[in-house]
Amino acid sequence: DGMERLHVRIAHSGLCSRRAAEKLILEGRVEVNGNIVAELGYKVAETDEVRVDGQSIRTTKTYTILLNKPSGVVTTLNDPQGRPTIVKYMPDYGVQLKPVGRLDMDTEGLLLCTNDGELAHRLSHPRYGVEKEYQAVVLGIVGEEAMEKLRTGVFVEGKKTSPAKVELIHAEPKTNTTGLRITIHEGRKRQVRLMCETVGHLVKSLKRTRYGPLKLKGMRVGEARLLGKKEVDDLR
Ligand code: URA
Repeated sequence: DGMERLHVRIAHSGLCSRRAAEKLILEGRVEVNGNIVAELGYKVAETDEVRVDGQSIRTTKTYTILLNKPSGVVTTLNDPQGRPTIVKYMPDYGVQLKPVGRLDMDTEGLLLCTNDGELAHRLSHPRYGVEKEYQAVVLGIVGEEAMEKLRTGVFVEGKKTSPAKVELIHAEPKTNTTGLRITIHEGRKRQVRLMCETVGHLVKSLKRTRYGPLKLKGMRVGEARLLGKKEVDDLR
């Protein structure tokens, strides 16, 4: 319906965080179409004019896309070394979308990109703890003991990882590989790879299949799609 809560509109303009916007509203510093609105929860339409301390706030439309990143592509908008980047897979909306977190060059899968700075900030905050699900193919046959260690936490660069979900997908003695589904909510550098290495299994391939409520579903590798309003709201 195009309606948005007033504090969300203010935060979207890039002026401040949602919390700070609520404070501005309660302080009576926000006007909608010339009238002060000092209550929380008030909704505005796209055509409503919002002012803070008398200054009109500009709102840029926000776009959040879900990209099925191929392996061999760097999660950056500009690589000084000239390697392939995610840019060529991102649709052009005339605004710069930035990746939310990153996937290693050799990792495939679900990557969000957005020009909604507030959303990106929230999602990147460790306290916010979005669940990220990965499928890893590792060398060797992973035993129950190693899986239990991964679940309870292992030391990665001197710091214990928080509890993870670890499920066996397949164990193939023939190729000496194991498929694991690993769900974590932290996002440390090369975390899944390093976790697996600490229990003695090198990761051969890694794919992120879920980010919070979002899944890759039938998306092809290299494909991108724009998230709908409901999908973005569900991320918050
Ligand atoms: N963990 C990794 O090791 N690599 C990624 O790209 C994401 C999570």
